[in-house]
Amino acid sequence: MGAEFSDFVGCEQLIARLEGAVNGRGVFAHANLFLGPKGTGKRTLAEICARALNCTGSDKPCGECGSCSMYLSGNHPDHIVLKPEKGVIKVDTVRALIDRLAIKPYAGGRYTIVICQADQMNPQAQNALLKTLEEPPDSAVFFLTATHTAGLLPTILSRVRIVRFEPVSDRAVSEALRRRGIADGQIQKLLVSAQGCVGAALEQNGDEEYWALRQRVEKALGEARSLASVESAASLLADDREQAARVIDIIEELAAHRMRCEVRGDSDARGPRYGARLLAAAFQARRMLASNVSWRSVLETLFFELLGGTK
Ligand SMILES: [Zn+2]
Repeated sequence: MGAEFSDFVGCEQLIARLEGAVNGRGVFAHANLFLGPKGTGKRTLAEICARALNCTGSDKPCGECGSCSMYLSGNHPDHIVLKPEKGVIKVDTVRALIDRLAIKPYAGGRYTIVICQADQMNPQAQNALLKTLEEPPDSAVFFLTATHTAGLLPTILSRVRIVRFEPVSDRAVSEALRRRGIADGQIQKLLVSAQGCVGAALEQNGDEEYWALRQRVEKALGEARSLASVESAASLLADDREQAARVIDIIEELAAHRMRCEVRGDSDARGPRYGARLLAAAFQARRMLASNVSWRSVLETLFFELLGGTK
């Protein structure tokens, strides 16, 4: 089963526009740039649109016709995906693509081309692609994805239709995860690190190591409720020195989540502005870590600060 338009929640206008265009209610541009943060569904949506553009069913993508089946099994002969190799998409890769587009599509429909992390094309590769983007063969539809435009030449940007992807609300993330069959208890945990990106939540869902570490972090934070418990709280994370940066990342995620809850008026037993204190403590911990302070001292200072201690 591939993802569907209906799997996207919280970005209804965008979905309605794309779904309408692939179903003949509007024009589908030949060159599209899906732009937005990691985990917002750019690649997934490009794949759905590609499948829909070659679908022979009625409610596109139908998921059942011959073309949809080939896409879903990853074997469509006219669907081309380019990805960076070792952080770069080279000019030879783009030239090979252009040569291929000169031949008629094998299945008689359109070529659908997804260029992932298109900002990783080096300038020669981007220049090679320019002319094709400007006058693409009728049969080709391009989907470029990127998290930002900084690495893309202005000439490329002027030839694509930019489709923006934004993080969505926690409520929308919850609903999207529920539709994928994830249990409510787990969804609540995933919301902390998702920060509005369903893809980030899905990636985190299967990461056992992350969950084990996060459990220890949450336990330690729960332990640190008085000055007398600073040492025992620090002990819980003392062995995680090698993933110190990840511990602090998790604390920052928890802090940001706490602050979002506070903004919504959902208070915490640890008092108002707990999220802000947590974030400040994490910030300081990161600085100490960069200055080679011992991990044990970093942890003790972190919990001390969190309790409102003075420097
Ligand atoms: Zn179909």
